[in-house]
Amino acid sequence: MTTTTTENWICRTCAYVYDEAEGDAAGLPPGTRWPEVPNDWTCPDCGAHKHDFDRMEPPR
Ligand SMILES: [Zn+2]
Repeated sequence: MTTTTTENWICRTCAYVYDEAEGDAAGLPPGTRWPEVPNDWTCPDCGAHKHDFDRMEPPR
């Protein structure tokens, strides 16, 4: 049984949401998990770094 749960991460600076299921148009393919996002990746909207993002609690 495989349960695929993706997480969303939100930029604390501009509220851009990174969706693991969708990736990022700037170069991250859909399904890229947060730990796999390169450390030099930055927010496409404001240029914030990975550590400026917070995990969003999944909806229940
Ligand atoms: Zn941002």
